Amino acid sequence: MIDSHCHLADEQFAADLDAVIARARSAGLERAMVILEGGNAKEAEQAARVQTLWPEVRVAVGVHPHIAHQFAGRVPDTVAVVRQQLTTTPQARAVGEIGLDYHYDFSPRDVQRAVFHAQVRLAREQKLPIVVHTREADLDTLAILKAAGEGEVRGVLHCFTGTQALADAALDAGFYISFAGIITFPRAGALREVAQRVPRDRILAETDSPFLAPVPRRGTRNEPAWVAHVVEALAVLQGVAPSVMAERTAANFHALFGP
Ligand SMILES: [Zn+2]
Ligand SMILES: [Zn+2]
Repeated sequence: MIDSHCHLADEQFAADLDAVIARARSAGLERAMVILEGGNAKEAEQAARVQTLWPEVRVAVGVHPHIAHQFAGRVPDTVAVVRQQLTTTPQARAVGEIGLDYHYDFSPRDVQRAVFHAQVRLAREQKLPIVVHTREADLDTLAILKAAGEGEVRGVLHCFTGTQALADAALDAGFYISFAGIITFPRAGALREVAQRVPRDRILAETDSPFLAPVPRRGTRNEPAWVAHVVEALAVLQGVAPSVMAERTAANFHALFGP
């Protein structure tokens, strides 16, 4: 079983990182993808601790749309910062999370688009997959993936909450779809319908911890061990045993991010 997206370098895990990782490993997690915010020295420092405690983790580095405003007027610096960190992080396997968030709009939309576009180009240059965060920005996200990726960049739409149309377009472009704990929430009926139809070789599971704890842990700090609840929910939807879904999502992780 693999948690394909978590924030173990978040300060919410600083105090009990070793216990969190121990629980993940004893829950049967083979590895996790740890998302790092490009240029965040504090996170990089904690990521080094993660790496010592759990050498099997993989890492993605990117400038999130929420902090894209920090690069307003100096978009090329985004690429320099992320490229540098990718080089110095031995377990780096992806550029992410990157994308567009028009729900929160923490950064001006034109800046979000420029920062996202630049990082897709970087991924293309580095031949790395991307981890995409997209919220209420379907058309712009797809347009940038097409324009900047030129059909050569693969990746995953993480914590998917979009429509069937977005899922179809992403799948057509060769992308994977990753589901988080939201899939277990009572009012996520439409999302469960989308998950039911994602092809078995394109589905991933994640926690996005420390955020979005799944039922029955909802409302508490989430952690990688609880990806089991997401895997279980996906297994029910696709009519297979949880162990089959665990293997399926792990195999897809490796197909996208490598060994
Ligand atoms: Zn995200
Ligand atoms: Zn995330």
